[in-house]
Amino acid sequence: MKREELMVAAIQNGTVIDHIPSSRLFEVVRLLHLEDIRQSSIMVGYNLKSRKMGHKSIIKISDKFFTDAELNLLSVVAPNVTLCIIKDFEVVEKKRVTLPQTIAGIVKCANPKCITNNEPMPTRFVVSQEDPIMLRCEYCEKEQSLEKVKLV
Ligand SMILES: [Zn+2]
Repeated sequence: MKREELMVAAIQNGTVIDHIPSSRLFEVVRLLHLEDIRQSSIMVGYNLKSRKMGHKSIIKISDKFFTDAELNLLSVVAPNVTLCIIKDFEVVEKKRVTLPQTIAGIVKCANPKCITNNEPMPTRFVVSQEDPIMLRCEYCEKEQSLEKVKLV
């Protein structure tokens, strides 16, 4: 195991989300609703030194396994995270996140006049362009780059 990973204690079973840009850590917490978790312990390493990224953050959640759909939401704010599924202290699976083609309920529309910013309703975006990735609002057609999205 790499030294920087040892800065946060190992977990026996659960999910490790690594290579989170530190500026996005709290958005990752929100997207996975970690603040509502009562049964698991969660360890957070914030702004650890990383050879690849300069600084990164890491979250380890004990006894918790997420669905791919839940994890793929992270691609909106942290497309390059790496996920490790841990069982009995061993990494049994490594995964990356992929951006869903439709993103519902988590991204704010950049158009202040959009109905989603003026009525209590969930937003809905489709990926309208790859590289750089653009999201298009299904209600007002406004496009915004993935890099600049804000969460609702
Ligand atoms: Zn809109």
